[in-house]
Amino acid sequence: MRIVLVGPPGAGKGTQATRLADKLRVPHISTGDLFRANISQQTELGKLAKSYMDAGNLVPDEVTIAMAKDRMEQPDAENGFLLDGFPRNVSQAEALDELLKTEGIKLDAVLDLEVPEEEVVKRIAGRRICRNDSAHVFHVTYSPAKKEGVCDVCGGELYQRDDDSEDTVRTRLEVYHTQTEPIIDYYKSQGLVVTISSLGPVGEVTQRALEALKREDDGK
Ligand code: AMP
Repeated sequence: MRIVLVGPPGAGKGTQATRLADKLRVPHISTGDLFRANISQQTELGKLAKSYMDAGNLVPDEVTIAMAKDRMEQPDAENGFLLDGFPRNVSQAEALDELLKTEGIKLDAVLDLEVPEEEVVKRIAGRRICRNDSAHVFHVTYSPAKKEGVCDVCGGELYQRDDDSEDTVRTRLEVYHTQTEPIIDYYKSQGLVVTISSLGPVGEVTQRALEALKREDDGK
C-alpha cells in the first residue's frame, strides 16, 4: 500500500505511522525524521533545515522534494510506503504525483488524522522523545516514562524537540492551516481521503485507521 498521512502537529502522526507501517509491512518515511537525522549528522542539508525547523516553518520545497524522492526510490519502498509529513503543501503534492506518474504507480489512500486544536497544544507541550529512536515517544502526563527523562524501551535520554516550544507550536499550527490543509482538498478531488479521529488510546486509533484503510481498499 502507498499511503500519505496528514494531520496537524501533535495529531500522533509519528506514533501512528510507526505502528501502521509495522502492521502494513511498508517502510515509514518521515521527512521530519530525515531532517533531524541530517541535523544530528551535521550535514549541509541539516544546517539549512534547522533554521526553518526551529522557527516552525517549512523547509524549502526544492531540497525537501529531492530528499523525499531519494528516500522513496530506495529498494525497501518498492512495493509500498507510508509517508509521514510529506507532502506538506500543494506543490509538494503535485511533485509527488509527477513522481508516481513516471513510475506508473498511484497512492491508495490519504489518511487524515483529526484532533481538536486545544488538544494539540497539550499533546505537544508535554511530548518527550528518545534520542536513540524518535518512535519512542512519551508524554509527561498522558504516557510518562517510568523513570523521568529515561526511555522505557531502550534507556535512551528523553528530550523535548526544539520546535515543540509553545511559540513554535503556534507557528507550526498556522503553517498547517495555511499550507498543509489545502492538500486535503487536493486529495479529496482524487477521492483518496479517509478521515478518522485521533482521540483516544493509541491502540484504538491504530485499529480505527486500519479499519478505515481496509474499507477504502475493499471499496476500490
Ligand atoms: P515533523 O517531524 O513532521 O513534525 O516535522 C518537523 C519540521 O520539519 C517541520 O515543522 C518542518 O520545519 C520540517 N519538515 C518536515 N517535513 C517537511 C516537508 N514535507 N516540507 C517542509 N518542511 C518539512
